[in-house]
Amino acid sequence: MKRKKFLKSAGLGALSLSFMKLSSFSTLSNNLKTSNKMPLMFVGHGTPMNAIVQNDFHKKWQSLGSQLPEPQAILVISAHWLTNKLTKVTAMSTPKTIHDFGGFPQELFKQQYPAPGSPEMAKLTVNEIHSTVVHEDMEWGLDHGTWSVLKPMFPEAKIPVYQLSIDITKPIEFHYKLGKELRALRRKGVLIIGSGNIVHNLSKLEYGKRPYDWAIDFDEKIKQFIDNRDFESVVNFHELGNLTKLAHPTYEHLLPLMYTLGAIEDKESIEYFNDSFDLGAISMRSLLVNS
Ligand code: ZN
Repeated sequence: MKRKKFLKSAGLGALSLSFMKLSSFSTLSNNLKTSNKMPLMFVGHGTPMNAIVQNDFHKKWQSLGSQLPEPQAILVISAHWLTNKLTKVTAMSTPKTIHDFGGFPQELFKQQYPAPGSPEMAKLTVNEIHSTVVHEDMEWGLDHGTWSVLKPMFPEAKIPVYQLSIDITKPIEFHYKLGKELRALRRKGVLIIGSGNIVHNLSKLEYGKRPYDWAIDFDEKIKQFIDNRDFESVVNFHELGNLTKLAHPTYEHLLPLMYTLGAIEDKESIEYFNDSFDLGAISMRSLLVNS
């Protein structure tokens, strides 16, 4: 079935396999598989403690890092970099590690992620995006939505990392469309990661709490939409009404998912990982998208 589809999509439907040596078929097929298109992710980052605690989430990030093809650069759209009435991209060569949280152990504040930035990729990103003007930024750095995930995933911190901000004043659709414009970067060796959470209600966090029913419901609805490739319904998440208000009193942690969904191409596979809850009110459900 797959082979048939492949032949059709390659414009070779009229050719019978008997005209092709199997070896040449497999070479062609392998070449396609090893094309430079990078996978794509949405990562539920949860609390910053996941950066240093060897829990299941952390361990999954570690194992993924060793399995993924090595990117030329990593672009993160983090729920923790929100901008007003403009979109920015970090363009410095040495981004600082930002400890943008309070009330956590000192060990967390000591963490550094000294990955280089990528002024070149930042410029390329500015050029790829046409729906809005993207401003190069020299002030931000790597916030914890970025480094808490990348430190376990790519501990050597050798791969250049840069961030794209989220203009919080724009409609949800804007972020999804911007994600579409990022697709081309995947063919240039860029690993794109949306970093947020599918359910995120800080006021309801409780240690040892089983997930709230509304957390399970909202997470499941978003999963169903994604499974059905009904991304429009994800973009229209406000239509879930009261469920949305409970899952996202503020919705900035859901916005990075719009970028990931926008950057998914037709017929790509979507796998879930870390699909469980933390502290009752955080869904850690994450997506890995592959061709
Ligand atoms: Zn967060």
